[in-house]
Amino acid sequence: MTDHETLLNVAAIRVGTRVNGPGLRAAIWVQGCTLRCPGCFNPGTHPHEPKDFWVPARLAERLAQPGIEGISVLGGEPFQQAAACARLAMRARELGASVVTYSGYTWKYLRECGLTEVRALLEATDLLIAGPYVAAQATDGNGWRGSANQEFVFLTGRYGPVDIDATANLPVMEMKSDGRLLDWTGIPAETDLEADCSLMALGSNSSRTIYRIS
Ligand code: SF4
Repeated sequence: MTDHETLLNVAAIRVGTRVNGPGLRAAIWVQGCTLRCPGCFNPGTHPHEPKDFWVPARLAERLAQPGIEGISVLGGEPFQQAAACARLAMRARELGASVVTYSGYTWKYLRECGLTEVRALLEATDLLIAGPYVAAQATDGNGWRGSANQEFVFLTGRYGPVDIDATANLPVMEMKSDGRLLDWTGIPAETDLEADCSLMALGSNSSRTIYRIS
């Protein structure tokens, strides 16, 4: 299979985020998800429509730079582009980066799925955050998952429960403004948004990191 046959359809990329997995990361939001969790934060990523197409290995090489601990693959639904995401993840790991993969599918579904490309993406993932977003169980104070039903699955020894415990002291949200549009990432609780009344006062080309106020 050539790189050309496994192009990855990407909705957005952010380099240098700390709110979508351990350490300083590059986050890739893939385009397309049919799961339609009610209350999903990213409805714009649902249509399987053309966005930015990347050769997965080349994208990994661009993102896995010195100082970046790893990549996080979010959605959209990475397992609906499993072959391309697997190639992205494999190349990132070859370059020494870790891989965090988010999925709306449950861990049970993924581990019992017989598809080769699904197995390949699991094998190239260090930490899987799996399960649909359930609004009634919305974020529980743990910065990396959207709802409490979602499972942390440690597929290699690179990360473990201690990394999850440490998220209590980590930022939950990052915001950037170009003076016109406000761009944010992370998984804030409603109270995090309420607690920071100055969010909309961000000026041009400014950025801000939001910590949970307990
Ligand atoms: S799987 Fe993710 S992107 Fe898809 S609907 Fe659920 S929360 Fe949204």
